[in-house]
Amino acid sequence: MNDSVQREIEELTNRLLELQHAYYVEHVSLVSDREYDRLFDRLLLLEQRHPELKSPHSPTSRVGSDLVHELPEVEHAIPVLSLDKAYSAQAVLEWMEKCRKRTADELSFTAEEKNDGVAIVLYYQNGILERGVTRGNGYVGNDVTPNVKTIAQVPLKLKEPVDASVRGEIFLGISDFHRISSAQETEFANPRNLAAGSIRRVKSRETAKVPLQLCVYEGYVTGRQEQTHVGMLQYLSYLGFPLSRHIGVFYPQGHTGHEHHEGFSHWHIGGFDRIEQYIAAAAETRRDRDYEIDGLVFKVNELNARDELGYTGHHPRWAAAYKFESPEAQTVIERIEIQVGRTGRITPVARVRPVKIGGSVVSNVTLHNQEYIRMLEAAEGDAVSVSKRGDVIPAVERVVEKNPQALPFWEIPEHCPSCGGALVLKGAHHFCQNVQCPDQVFGRIQFFCSRKQMDIDGFGPETIRTLIELGAVHDIPDIYEADLASVLADVPGFKEKKITLLQQGLRKSMTRPFDTVLASLGIPDIGIKAAQLLIAGGYQSIESMVQDAQTGKESAFTEIKGIGPAMAASLGEALRDPEMVRRIQRLQHAGLCFHGTADEPEGEQGFADQTWCVTGSFDSYKPRSKAEELIRRHGGKVVSAVSGSVTHLLAGQSAGSKLAKAKELNIRIVSEDEFTAMISSMN
Ligand SMILES: [Zn+2]
Repeated sequence: MNDSVQREIEELTNRLLELQHAYYVEHVSLVSDREYDRLFDRLLLLEQRHPELKSPHSPTSRVGSDLVHELPEVEHAIPVLSLDKAYSAQAVLEWMEKCRKRTADELSFTAEEKNDGVAIVLYYQNGILERGVTRGNGYVGNDVTPNVKTIAQVPLKLKEPVDASVRGEIFLGISDFHRISSAQETEFANPRNLAAGSIRRVKSRETAKVPLQLCVYEGYVTGRQEQTHVGMLQYLSYLGFPLSRHIGVFYPQGHTGHEHHEGFSHWHIGGFDRIEQYIAAAAETRRDRDYEIDGLVFKVNELNARDELGYTGHHPRWAAAYKFESPEAQTVIERIEIQVGRTGRITPVARVRPVKIGGSVVSNVTLHNQEYIRMLEAAEGDAVSVSKRGDVIPAVERVVEKNPQALPFWEIPEHCPSCGGALVLKGAHHFCQNVQCPDQVFGRIQFFCSRKQMDIDGFGPETIRTLIELGAVHDIPDIYEADLASVLADVPGFKEKKITLLQQGLRKSMTRPFDTVLASLGIPDIGIKAAQLLIAGGYQSIESMVQDAQTGKESAFTEIKGIGPAMAASLGEALRDPEMVRRIQRLQHAGLCFHGTADEPEGEQGFADQTWCVTGSFDSYKPRSKAEELIRRHGGKVVSAVSGSVTHLLAGQSAGSKLAKAKELNIRIVSEDEFTAMISSMN
């Protein structure tokens, strides 16, 4: 009985692996989706009944598991060195010349696309995937095997039962990235970050949800002797690995440029005179691809010449990475500090050696959270690549070289640097839970006064800091209750005129409507949009909200369209907090508005069914949320990223990458003047 089950499991396993390879690597469907599902479900069922017969390379491992697995450190069999960089075609040609001079042989060269992803080393024994390890510091990486197994393009079993270690890049398609980031709030700035974060998830089922791809570029197969890199790549392809989609091969002379297709990859063959043109073409066509490449990797094709050329301490002499220009620059993390936000949320920030990127000098770079730092494997002293794309805050993109002491990755301390309280991990972030924490008090007041919230003139960071340091202000209501004229009387920089300005600002803020006041309290998830929905949904006073929150009826919030359970829980929690209730009462007493009426959406719905993205700066719409508000008021949807679903891009001055992207996608581009005309025609 068990024999026949075992045979069936083996047959199904092999058949499904074949079908997966055909579908994910060769992009061919050999059977209908229904037939595939039937086979898959059958195997799943048999494996559930006979777990002892399940193969370690079963195609069902692609769906991952909820079991939390560790990411232990593993030493690489062969160190993964970084590559020497070349920033111009001239530099590539010079490097080639150097290689030719060092060896007596006549050399040829290959060029592969460098996918912008996460380097991975896959270890196979007898043709079965044993382990997937991240590059790490080149000598030691993280074992991410359960996650790697979920990636459909990673062969779980090879065509031949060989022992091999294979290097490649795990990456994510651009359209897949946009689809995932628009479906969920994500902290990841680009496809590479999301790929790197996914490969390090501790639940493989989470990894399986992200359609990661693989491209391999180097392999060491026990007992296999190939003459050339091209030969090795063809063998790797035969074993079941996807290669770089475009590969160039260049010979000294006698070869005229032509192109032929072999399986999955395009091979471009030519003489050395074609290299400059090849690089220029790659720089151009990369913008049309659905994956990001950050350069081309050139290698000596003859494998015996590679042995002859050998290595320097840092990199092989037989390879060079040509880098495309990008809004990135290299610098060094001098130290990592943590910032305490108004909600107590901890954000690690890298203080980097100042570096110029895209016209501005960057010295502070966000590291988001512990998970992000782990993903980067970043520590103080590391040489890093930093990017600044469009309006996005500068971010550390990757570690270029580890610090000399090889510190692995930086860890958030156990205590708050502002108040000394214990830090607690909630979700992806650490929090300081002490509401009196000075940094939180500052953040709360600053947020309340900021231009996007209550917009109180004169209450900038310095004024707020001064008031806190003088002991005059401990919470938001204090700014209304304090006697500013006497508190600031002898403080340098606060002349009578400035104090009058502050008082006028406070008076003006008392005319702000309920939705603005509610959104300015800084309750997590309750921004201006949620505040408007709540008020329009019938909560026309703070008392009615507090009452529902305190009598266990917070589920009533979710009856309003657009208010989800997380928002309702957050609002409920805040309004049950005696600290918050007292704050509200004091603000009410100071004269702020805590009641309002439900407004009908104003204006003609001329933007109905349209999705807008707004970029750049404007003369008449400052901050630009004013333009976004107008779009919403006229029935349009506003999103923050340019993707296929965007119908209009409102482009102001110095619009950057979003404008370029919109042009590429043929999205209608609207200037400020045009927009103003559209709005006035509707009113
Ligand atoms: Zn604190």
